[in-house]
Amino acid sequence: MAMSIGEYNNRVQEWINQHWGPSQACPMCRRVTPWQLAPPIETPLRQGVIERIPTHQALATIPLTCGFCGFVIHLNAVKVGILPGLEPVEPYREQG
Ligand SMILES: [Zn+2]
Repeated sequence: MAMSIGEYNNRVQEWINQHWGPSQACPMCRRVTPWQLAPPIETPLRQGVIERIPTHQALATIPLTCGFCGFVIHLNAVKVGILPGLEPVEPYREQG
């Protein structure tokens, strides 16, 4: 069953309250304004500095945007407990 947007917002906010220190001020503008929460995004993982070989895995993050200056923080969606984790990617080794 899919998670509702309300449940998603509540779970992420609860995690933030448990893990973020007493001040949730923006690291860039130093203001304490409401952070805007967006649905998780996925960044494809690649291996290698030059070749950038696709791993067919992705890093899922939860973007939080400062309501004043637009600074964006990404939380790991697996660590927050929104998405299940996968086995870690094997480290890339240069062929030599
Ligand atoms: Zn800011």
